[in-house]
Amino acid sequence: METIPMINEKQALSDAGHKVHLLNLEFDDLEKWVQSIGQPKFRGKQIFQWLYVDRVTDFDAMSNLPQKLREQLKETATINTMREVTRQVSTDGTIKWLWELYDGSTIETVLMRHDYGNSVCVSSQVGCRMGCTFCASTLGGLVRNLTGGEVVEQLLNVQRFLDSAAEEQERVSSVVLMGSGEPMENYDEVMKFVDIINDQNGLKIGARHITISTSGLVPAIRRLADEKRQITMAISLHATRDEIRSALMPINRRWGIDELLESCRYYIRQTGRRISFEYALVGGQNDDLAHARELAGLLTNIDCHVNLIPVNYVPERNYTRTPKDQIRAFVNELNRLGVNATVRREKGHDIAAACGQLRAEQGRI
Ligand code: SAH
Repeated sequence: METIPMINEKQALSDAGHKVHLLNLEFDDLEKWVQSIGQPKFRGKQIFQWLYVDRVTDFDAMSNLPQKLREQLKETATINTMREVTRQVSTDGTIKWLWELYDGSTIETVLMRHDYGNSVCVSSQVGCRMGCTFCASTLGGLVRNLTGGEVVEQLLNVQRFLDSAAEEQERVSSVVLMGSGEPMENYDEVMKFVDIINDQNGLKIGARHITISTSGLVPAIRRLADEKRQITMAISLHATRDEIRSALMPINRRWGIDELLESCRYYIRQTGRRISFEYALVGGQNDDLAHARELAGLLTNIDCHVNLIPVNYVPERNYTRTPKDQIRAFVNELNRLGVNATVRREKGHDIAAACGQLRAEQGRI
């Protein structure tokens, strides 16, 4: 299997801590940065296009830059700050990577192939401090926030993989922030990531094709609503009553279901966008028909779509999965009550594709 080409990996990683990470710079910032090292502004645009249109992996390939500038870039900047530790390939085409960052931390990224295109799930933090009881990402707590550039690099690595693996040009068509971490806790860096992949000079991934999933940080949902970006908001709801939700998701003790749903209504009003709710069916806890009816009651008058996710088995957590016919009955009940709901088609079930699973399995926590 081909690997993603990189310049000398060890060198790249040891440099990454003190060099400027170019993937961390939005278009305008890259223009400013090239000027700060004594170059004309237009070099910024050239470099940006090398990074996101040609997707080169080293400075020597930037053939329209003067040799002297290329040497200067090698001295002061980097575009490779992570190395592939391992990769798992599912029979359904899903691929999951485990990356090591320059400081030894590890994160995961997943590529999913759908009929409608390629979607990539990126991580926004190393670990997570939300403490959701069913989730593997939070097992070792939060290590640190990722920089916007580290989120960009995950995506770029997957796009480079598609560039090298596919016979025809294949693009990443949608991006979900559903890897490890709570993206709304790392707001500024996540928005930097959004701006960089959105840029018309580069990858041009539209905001409508970017989904941010949150465990429910109400002030951040309101902040994003006020920015009126067209990003798709996904809310990890998972329960219909505060007692159940607080037991599964400690954040619910800070912002309860009512307050959370109020912020969702606000998001819809401000942006005109429909919201997604994630509802993981956890055997015996939130998965009977009474819960389906309560859920329908809660979501009355909210323009939304519900994604039902049969809980993924995490060895450290002892949850059981809801039987298939009960899942059917749950979704039918929601539909009958007028709620738009589907069961998420599972991808990568034969590999450790759920949040944080591969990292946990590799003993990297
Ligand atoms: N912190 C954010 C984004 C990361 S998790 C959030 O909470 O939304 C992405 C989604 O996967 C969330 O809906 C999360 O609750 C869900 N998830 C985590 N572990 C899971 C598991 N074992 N089974 C099913 N869904 C899970």
